[in-house]
Amino acid sequence: MSEHGTATHCPYCALQCAMWLRTDDSGRPTVAPRDFPTNQGGLCRKGWTAAELLRPGRRLTTPLVRRTPGGPLEEADWDEALTRVVFGIRRIQEGAGRDAVAVFGGGGLTNEKAYLLGKFARVTLRTANIDYNGRFCMSSAAAAGLRAFGLDRGLPFPLSDVGRADALLLVGANPAETMPPFVRHLDAARAAGGALVVVDPRRTATAARATLHLRPAPGTDLALANGLLHIAVAEGLVDEKYVADRTEGFTAVREAVATYWPEHVERLTGVPVADQYRAVRLLADAPRALVLTARGAEQHRNGTDTVSAFVNLALALGLPGREGSGYGCLTGQGNGQGGREHGQKADQLPGYRRIDDPHARAHVARVWDVPADSLPGPGVSAYELLRSLGTEGGPRGLLLFGSNPVVSAPNAGLVEERLRGLDLLVVSDPVLSETAALADVVLPSAQWAEEDGTMTNLEGRVIRRRRALAPPPGVRTDLWIISELSRRLGRATGFSDSAPEVFAELGRAAAGGPADYSGITYDRIDAQGGVFWPCPADGEGRSGRPEAAAGVSPDPDPGPGPDPVPGSDPDAGTPRMFLDAFAHPDGKARFVAVHHTPPAEEPDELYPLHLTTGRIMQHYQSGAQTRRVPELADGTRDPHVEIHPDLAARHDIVAGDRVRLVSRRGTTEADARITTAVPPDLLFMPFHWGGAQRVNSVVGDALDPVSRMPEFKVSAVRLERVG
Ligand code: SF4
Repeated sequence: MSEHGTATHCPYCALQCAMWLRTDDSGRPTVAPRDFPTNQGGLCRKGWTAAELLRPGRRLTTPLVRRTPGGPLEEADWDEALTRVVFGIRRIQEGAGRDAVAVFGGGGLTNEKAYLLGKFARVTLRTANIDYNGRFCMSSAAAAGLRAFGLDRGLPFPLSDVGRADALLLVGANPAETMPPFVRHLDAARAAGGALVVVDPRRTATAARATLHLRPAPGTDLALANGLLHIAVAEGLVDEKYVADRTEGFTAVREAVATYWPEHVERLTGVPVADQYRAVRLLADAPRALVLTARGAEQHRNGTDTVSAFVNLALALGLPGREGSGYGCLTGQGNGQGGREHGQKADQLPGYRRIDDPHARAHVARVWDVPADSLPGPGVSAYELLRSLGTEGGPRGLLLFGSNPVVSAPNAGLVEERLRGLDLLVVSDPVLSETAALADVVLPSAQWAEEDGTMTNLEGRVIRRRRALAPPPGVRTDLWIISELSRRLGRATGFSDSAPEVFAELGRAAAGGPADYSGITYDRIDAQGGVFWPCPADGEGRSGRPEAAAGVSPDPDPGPGPDPVPGSDPDAGTPRMFLDAFAHPDGKARFVAVHHTPPAEEPDELYPLHLTTGRIMQHYQSGAQTRRVPELADGTRDPHVEIHPDLAARHDIVAGDRVRLVSRRGTTEADARITTAVPPDLLFMPFHWGGAQRVNSVVGDALDPVSRMPEFKVSAVRLERVG
């Protein structure tokens, strides 16, 4: 610890702003910003107030159990709580099989927790049913990145490239609200003469900074991307040499976009022809250009194809794998990147390996000291898992860590009903979230400042979370909870509760995989201020080798590896990927031909409006933490709905009126905010609240067929004034 306090990172979003944590003279924990390449000394108000939840009174400090069905949650000691969990798991699995107990994780868990949770599911419970809330957040971009580049790392280049870009295309992202220090990079680019093109149906705080704001109708981003590529082809702006040398599949994509001529795209999207041309020119004329996508592009039933369409545009312009240019995805959750690499995903083993790959199973089973054939196969995705709970053949018990699906899942009324119908619901959480309130057993877990571990930020940089304070008596770390449950379930070894030990084992399990962490150590992170994966250990698998990066595990004894990964820095890992080769076996990127499809729900007579959802500056995800921080909750105790003035007038609604949104699935209520930030046929409501103010009660559950990500961004609703 230095004189400033303990060097750590914010507990919330994927920017993982650096901060000092220290206690003041009265013993109260406080934070101060710390300079780091991502936040450049900045914090948003969530970061500034992050220490508030560490104080007693705003968190759980003792386990809670429900001793009678339908009865209240009552305080218990750890032995009683864990005994109930173990008894419940055994009874369910003996009666209904191993898969009858499911596990649900989160994109905010440290790498160590995500890894140990996946191992706990596969080795201790031996259930196939594990997935996590990152499915709601990043999975479409991950799927599109995998098929284009053979490897998914949100930003395959350092964030500092954003500040040096001559042109940026930002699709479906509002970092001015969601991660404000990120805007320093955008502003640096603008100050140096760079152009910012923002694609968003809403005029957000980010769009207000743009050189050009394109406002496609909800659910038409893919058509816009194809239209932009059509113009690039027609105007001779395609980088033909790059396409020939570094890609495959352009012919099919050129044919696919041939029908997306500008006037047709204007009719589909509402984006004027002249703006389409201008956007393409800004990108194509820039020496260094970046295409960045986020949830606005992803959270659709065609989210993977939509991201692919923008990747196609980037590839045609020759951007990915070129220093200073490229394609990237802005990850949302704090460890959204690392959380999807180490095994809490239904189809995955550590190191971003596939669970249906026999070589991967054999490698990980060796590290775990279990027979490979004892490992379960792939399970189902997050929403499908939640929807199946308590149904015929579905899981009867659920252990949930670091997630609040009662608020954050789509069609949340149904999800809540399913959770209520379980024989056993166990929730580990620092606070009594809406989901924890339904549980049979609630386990109070330690918070970010009370535990060691690593997070992988939006750049793929693995950073340290450091324990600065002891948790209050009665609170345990998630690692201890998983370890102790394993021991009580008959696994006496193999589940350390020491973060450094778990990280070292994670490195062995990830060695040779696409996300190779085997060369990363806590000491190396400390020395370098973070290490970018892939970072193979000397003498072990080289994830820069095309076959390893493509997800094919290497021979257990591969012999000397090839040259290090292109762009690799021997100390900092691999800050910049794909400079010489992409991760497909032939080293080439793949174009993927995609076509526009409408959203699952189009407006009709009964539900004539589109609703889209998102975040606001004061709150993080389901709001379970930030709604408990007075400085954030003041002024935002209730959600609002953005309504265009013309629409408001038609419904006789004025600012501050209580309004109700009704969909085929349910209703929600909020205060009216009248604004031209939304078009007349679109409503926007943030999703940070539960109960009657839960917007996910009305949001639909159509899933992307590739990523299984729900369509949060478009639902058909009716608007009513309450009273
Ligand atoms: Fe930084 Fe995100 Fe934390 Fe805000 S919430 S301080 S942007 S990491």
